Parts: sequence; structure tokens; C-alpha cells
Amino acid sequence: MKYTLDTIPVLDAYKTGCECPLCKLRILCEDQYVDTMLASAYMEPEWRIKTNETGFCTRHFELMYNRRNRLGLALMTHTHMQQVIASLESILDGVQPEKKGLLASLRGGKADGAPAQIRARIDGCAICEQIDAALARYAYTIAQLYFTNSEFKAQFAASKGFCLPHLALLLELAEKTLSGAQAAEFRKAVAQLELQNLKRVEGELEFFTLKFDYRYADKPWGNSKDAPERAINKLMGACVGEEARLPPHND
Ligand SMILES: [Zn+2]
Ligand SMILES: [Zn+2]
Repeated sequence: MKYTLDTIPVLDAYKTGCECPLCKLRILCEDQYVDTMLASAYMEPEWRIKTNETGFCTRHFELMYNRRNRLGLALMTHTHMQQVIASLESILDGVQPEKKGLLASLRGGKADGAPAQIRARIDGCAICEQIDAALARYAYTIAQLYFTNSEFKAQFAASKGFCLPHLALLLELAEKTLSGAQAAEFRKAVAQLELQNLKRVEGELEFFTLKFDYRYADKPWGNSKDAPERAINKLMGACVGEEARLPPHND
């Protein structure tokens, strides 16, 4: 797979001083893709073929549901549902009568039976796919800028690291696209930055818990007031609190 640089959004995300610049970019992409899907993409035949086949995850159904274009969402859901029903007809048609007993289930348990096929049929998401492609491009850009832009390298060193899912993505892209020596140097720089920042957030979270002890009641909160949100987001990617909030919308 060939990746392209996408420098400006990455530099802008780093300027915000957030806990994970890739989460910042993820939220911006997500907001934009949800909007585009409901504004126009669902009317374009090429997109409609994609959404009919793939559908959406619960998060992206929910985000679209919360916007105003109920008709657009209903039309997309309707034609997707027609395709899912067609798939189910063949999946359920192939179902064998259930074998009873432990021995039979050990002998006859097929990993690709109807339950697995049903789960696989509703597993995809047209918006997640777009976000994943954009984030791979941004992670690639971070790894490249680190070696080509000294100003960025300084920003990177002063930044707060990444959430763990994006840490994995970044290391994966670096491994795939940098030379052996550069990948090793980058891994070392990322490891140092990440561990230092994980420990910082862990310390802030500990102080948050100590504030419930009367001996700490008069001590200032420092950076700890939103430590639970930031700790959860650092571990799992932005999902709670201010960092996970999408830009405000009228629709
Ligand atoms: Zn992240
Ligand atoms: Zn999704």
C-alpha cells in the first residue's frame, strides 16, 4: 500500500497540545465523514454500493441518528437492510440442525457456521473504513516528518505521546514504511515519550484519588481534575470527556 503525506492537519493537531494528536484527527475526520455521508454521499451511486454492502457500526449509526437528516439515514438503512436480508437468506439456508452433547459439539463445531457468518455480515462500517485509511495516512506522516522536519521533531518531543490504540498504529506504520535504522530510532523516541507520559497521567490519576482523602482536601487540584477522563482516553483512545467531544452542530 502506498501512503501519502498529509502534513498540515498533523501540524495543526500537534499545536493543540492534546493527549493524542491522532485522536484529535480521528474526531475531526469522524465529524466530517458523518456529515458528508448524510449531506451527499448517500445519493452517490458509488457510495451507496459501499454503504449497502458494508453498513455502519453502532457508534456511526448513533452519530448519524443524532443529526437531522432522518430521511437520508432511513434510505441508506433501507437498501443496506435489503442486502443483509438477502445474505441472511443464504446464511440461514445453510444452517445444519444443531448437534446435541459435548462430544458432538467438539466433533462438529464449525468455526464458520451461521453464528460466525451473521456476526461477520454486520461487522463492517463504511465510516470506520474511511477513518482507518485517514489515520494510517496521518500516522505515516508523523513518522516521516520526524526525520524530515526539525521543527516537527521538537514539537513531537514536547508532545504528550499517544493513546494506546494509536501508539500501536504509529509503530506499525513506522515499521512498514521506515528503513530498519530509522524504524529503530523512531521506536526508541516513541517509547521514551510514551512511557514518560503514561506515568505522568497515572500520577495525575493517583492524585485525583488522593484528593478524596481529608488530608489532601486543602491541596490544590493541579492537573488532576480531569485525570480519570484523560487516563481512560490514554488507555483506549478518546471516548469520554472533553477530548472525545465532536464539534458542535446545528443539524
Ligand atoms: Zn489516540
Ligand atoms: Zn464505524
